Amino acid sequence: MNNPAHNIYIHVPFCMSKCNYCAFFSRACSAPDWVGYSRDICAELEHWARTLGRIDVPTVFFGGGTPSLMPTDTFAEIMGCVRKNFNLLSDAEVTLESNPGTLDAMRLREFMSHGVNRLSVGVQSLDDDKLKFMGRRHSASDALHLLDAAHNLGLRVSADFIYGLPDETVSDVVRLCGEINTLGLKHCSLYELTIEPNTPFGKMNLTMPDNETMAAMYTAIDEYLKLSRYEVSNYCAPDNECKHNLNIWGGAPYIGVGAGAAGRVFTNNTWFEQTGNFETYSPISDSVRATECVITGLRTVRGCLLTDSVKKVIDMDWVHMHPELITVQDNRIATTADGMLVLDDVLVNLVK
Ligand code: SF4
Repeated sequence: MNNPAHNIYIHVPFCMSKCNYCAFFSRACSAPDWVGYSRDICAELEHWARTLGRIDVPTVFFGGGTPSLMPTDTFAEIMGCVRKNFNLLSDAEVTLESNPGTLDAMRLREFMSHGVNRLSVGVQSLDDDKLKFMGRRHSASDALHLLDAAHNLGLRVSADFIYGLPDETVSDVVRLCGEINTLGLKHCSLYELTIEPNTPFGKMNLTMPDNETMAAMYTAIDEYLKLSRYEVSNYCAPDNECKHNLNIWGGAPYIGVGAGAAGRVFTNNTWFEQTGNFETYSPISDSVRATECVITGLRTVRGCLLTDSVKKVIDMDWVHMHPELITVQDNRIATTADGMLVLDDVLVNLVK
């Protein structure tokens, strides 16, 4: 059996408490059963090794939830299982998502000794009142300490921020960009706050900035942040993209393990959709997979390769009629800055 490399996403569905905006698959749990968790994750990884063989693994991403709550022994066990069952490449990117207040330099060093080389930190805001409003458990200074500790240890570091809170203005976002510019980051993500039903924010009848203001905020980020946008919400210095996400947005196969994790597995010349449970995965057609690649590829400035399957699912006439929104170059299509601002509309028109 000669299957291609697969990236691995490992979901850690536990948090200390739920943030007011959060609709991610996670639950507040003060004492998770880490032994049971590790056993279940390893069973899933072994299942995939039986199915796919000893495939190459270029990236492992621990997302959540709050993966940094994990005892380092649990992390070591899971990484041991990855190494035992797959060929983890020598330059593999291994990312741990984290929240300030859950890691100190000693724990960070232990995670690193078991393979973590990239830390993503949920900073969300540098204003303590806003953090409180969002239901975050940490202060801005907790976040800054964690970023410093991670930088000092030589980790690749990313930080997440949320903008577009009620009453926020474009100048608030400009100020945030200025503050981010001083942090020495080579990667960060800025997410527009979206109000999800069934979250505390969803029940609060909040007055959000209007669409025009949100669009102006998005444009201001491009102008004032020193890092460059390489995906709708992601920014980096040259060559500092998140390899894991870039691979997946570019259409590479990936295995998802852990409750609620999705994956796209490729074997026997067929794509499989894996949603939620590794025991239930089903084949998807080339056209469904090509459509997915268009949707994720166009989120990135790199765009999407015009393979035969992709050409069959998009309207090339529409592409040629809208050079202000979408470009064609080197057998790839990509959204322009204006196109990214109206990406949902672009996709509705583009995909047949
Ligand atoms: S820490 Fe992250 S995953 Fe957990 S509740 Fe907050 S936003 Fe959601």
